[in-house]
Amino acid sequence: MKDSNFLKEHNGRLMWHPMTSPQDSQHTPPKIITAAQGVRITDIDGHEVIDAVGGLWNVNLGYSCQPVKDAIAAQLDVLPYYSTFRGTSNDAVIELSYELQQFFAPDGMRRAFFTSGGSDSVETTLRLARQYHKLRGEAGRTKFLSLKKGYHGTHIGGASVNGNANFRSAYEPLLPGCFHIPAPYTYRNPFGESDPERLAQLCLQALEDEIAFQGANTIAAMIMEPILGAGGVIPPHASFAPAVQEICNRHGILLITDEVITAYGRTGAWSGARLWGVQPDMMATAKAITNGYFPFGAVMLGERMVEAFEDNPAAKIGHGYTYSGHPVGAAAALACLAETQRLNVIENAAARGTQLYEGCLALQRKHPLVGDVRGGHGLMTAIEMVSDRATKTPLDAKRAGIVQEVAYQSGAMVRVSGPNLILSPALILSEADASAILAALDAGLTAAEAV
Ligand code: PLP
Repeated sequence: MKDSNFLKEHNGRLMWHPMTSPQDSQHTPPKIITAAQGVRITDIDGHEVIDAVGGLWNVNLGYSCQPVKDAIAAQLDVLPYYSTFRGTSNDAVIELSYELQQFFAPDGMRRAFFTSGGSDSVETTLRLARQYHKLRGEAGRTKFLSLKKGYHGTHIGGASVNGNANFRSAYEPLLPGCFHIPAPYTYRNPFGESDPERLAQLCLQALEDEIAFQGANTIAAMIMEPILGAGGVIPPHASFAPAVQEICNRHGILLITDEVITAYGRTGAWSGARLWGVQPDMMATAKAITNGYFPFGAVMLGERMVEAFEDNPAAKIGHGYTYSGHPVGAAAALACLAETQRLNVIENAAARGTQLYEGCLALQRKHPLVGDVRGGHGLMTAIEMVSDRATKTPLDAKRAGIVQEVAYQSGAMVRVSGPNLILSPALILSEADASAILAALDAGLTAAEAV
């Protein structure tokens, strides 16, 4: 490995980083992370902090999960790769299919289709949704519905159902036939409604109206995150998801839950669908399936999909990735699933999630920059920062950056996305670590308020 001067000199110059401008990376070179242990990361200058981002919502078991590392190494030794395209499979992925079917049985999931990550998983669900309707003689059902503020990855299909202009406008025109429903976002919504239950009703009415306007027989699927993540951690009222499912069922529209963040325990339940008591037709999963140690994803498929595809000899799946069912990814996922269940991570996610959420509410009482605090369902928490509480003016990028940087210097890596400060640490976080994150945020907010 080259020395640190070399690395710093070339940092941000020779690669384009996702979700930022090349100029930004050149002017403000990214932090160079060189090591990680437990829930902590260390940068090139030896500064160690708690990773309150959890990698990118994916390192649920922390950075020292030895069974997963061992499983990867062992699988590399025996079978580093083989394809699962027509005619071949591998032992690890067969076992994983079995384990996933058991794990997601309470969600009504019966089969798995493997991918290389979250965007691939989303794309797979959209494609299979269209094919499902074609197989059933309803070829006119091609449109997709989703929520504003939703995030569904960056492929063209996923970007088309994304509900945030930042991920769309530079890449338009996107897929035709994608329509967005207002999100149950209590802090800001077009109805001026601050009661979560009434807001859920208004969003559901908007969904019904859009279906009536488009014509139900033109709509393939509704895709939504059980709790909106990248859009700023927006949990809907408990009545929302079950009512979406009822509406979709009534209109013959498939329901896809995008569980790239919410599956495998992050919400304090084993899946987002289970958190709300719904049974979708498909679930897109990725991220924590391999704890971030290997790029991998799984789409889980429910009974309707099984019937449409398995009862029809002509139902050929013209879709798949070179790395679908990669044996090393499958071995990593098997070890993660075992470890996730052995540690029963949902209990700690719920307890530490409550601690962080309540701690952020305490910060709101202290700091005028905290406009809204959202969370309360496992380790998904956000603070929405404002420069003025009365007008809810989003905090400027400069002061948001100060909050992030001072928090980092004070011991916690936190993620700032627009005015949102997002906390998604590993599910094995300790009580002391959670307190340390809150103290670092306190320092960051204090510093930004002094500017
Ligand atoms: N869907 C959701 C809900 C996500 O949060 C993400 C990534 O954050 C994706 C899809 C895309 O996943 P990936 O970045 O692995 O392609």
